This record gives sequence, C-alpha cells and structure tokens, in this order.
Amino acid sequence: MKENYLGVDVSPLNYDELISALYKRLEEQQNSFIVAINPEKIMKARQDEELRTLLNRADFQIPDGIGVILASKLKGGSINSRVTGIDMMMRICEESVKRNKSVFLFGAKPGIAEEAQASLERLYPGIRVAGTLNGYEKDPDVIRQTINDAKPDILFVAMGSPAQEYFIVNNMSELHPHIFQGVGGSFDVLSG
Ligand code: UDP
Repeated sequence: MKENYLGVDVSPLNYDELISALYKRLEEQQNSFIVAINPEKIMKARQDEELRTLLNRADFQIPDGIGVILASKLKGGSINSRVTGIDMMMRICEESVKRNKSVFLFGAKPGIAEEAQASLERLYPGIRVAGTLNGYEKDPDVIRQTINDAKPDILFVAMGSPAQEYFIVNNMSELHPHIFQGVGGSFDVLSG
C-alpha cells in the first residue's frame, strides 16, 4: 500500500520488490512510470496541483531522500530505507542484461548520454543501449521517432525535474518502451 505525504504518494517497495514488479509488468507489456520523491518535490507539489497530479500519476514513487524515510517513521509507516533515482537506474540496467532488454538514454548536454552509455557498458558488460539523444532536442516528433526507431524496452530521461516527468506522462503512450524513469542529473554523474 502506498503511503501519502502532504498529498504525494510514495511507494513502500524496496529495490528487489521494485525490480520484480517492473519486469513482470514489462513482460506483460504494461507501462511503468517511476518518479523519485524527495522533500523538495513534496513541498513544491503542495503549492502546485498540476505537479501533485503528475507525481501521483506515476506507478512507482520511489522514496529518494532521507526526509521521506523520517516522515514515514514519524507516521508509523513502513518505508525504512531510501531508494535513490540513480541506484534504481543501475538496478534496472543490471537486470536488463539478465533479461536481454534494451535501454535508451535521453537527456543531458550533447555527448553526455554517449559517455554515460560507455560507463554503463563498462559496469554491465552485455548491456544493450539501443540509442541516445541529448536533452536539448525539443521537437517532439524527432524525439518520438528517434526513440521508437531504436525499439528500446526501457527509457531513462535525464532532463531535470519536473520537465522529465512531464515529458514521460505526455509521451509514454506513444513510445515503444514500457519502463520510464526520470533520472535528473544521472547521465552527468555517469559520464564522470
Ligand atoms: N537538461 C536537459 N535538457 C534541458 C535542461 C536540462 O537535458 O532542456 C539536463 C541537464 O543537462 C542535466 C539535467 O537535465 O543533465 C538536469 O540535472 P539536474 O541535476 O539539474 O536535475 P535534478 O535531478 O536536480 O532535477
């Protein structure tokens, strides 16, 4: 059961539970939208109904941020450890190798997603990166076509929050992948 903090849902699942839920849904061709929740996003969403609706539309709101863990503790909830956006992305990548699923990296400045791809290929030998696209491409038709032509199973969007979440919600029904995660500055981190 999801917990709710100031109007924002948070999933109590840990990494292993999330991975099995995500890949089960992928096998069933059901879309999954993952968003990382931290206290800043909760406070922003308090004053912004559209953002609150957007965050609550995600299938999995992961507790990224110690403040969410504290809030759960204080309210007698069951969320007792963090699930960070970048670690979630890494786990999804690790599992993608075992299941022979492909990922697409969309976001960050030109060249960064390719560097992130090289890092992922070093970390997870055998990973299939179906394609990359920088986050400054703004033509929705070009974006959709580039992603769909690559036929990825999983899409990571690194454009900052909430732009990446709005992109996912507005486009997921027309995109090939079934797992969608907004990952903020993760490609920059991975590019070293
Ligand atoms: N970015 C992008 N397109 C834009 C604006 C930003 O791809 O139009 C990228 C930017 O290059 C950076 C990421 O989005 O890689 C934002 O990272 P940040 O750490 O600010 O995101 P946060 O996790 O704080 O939301």
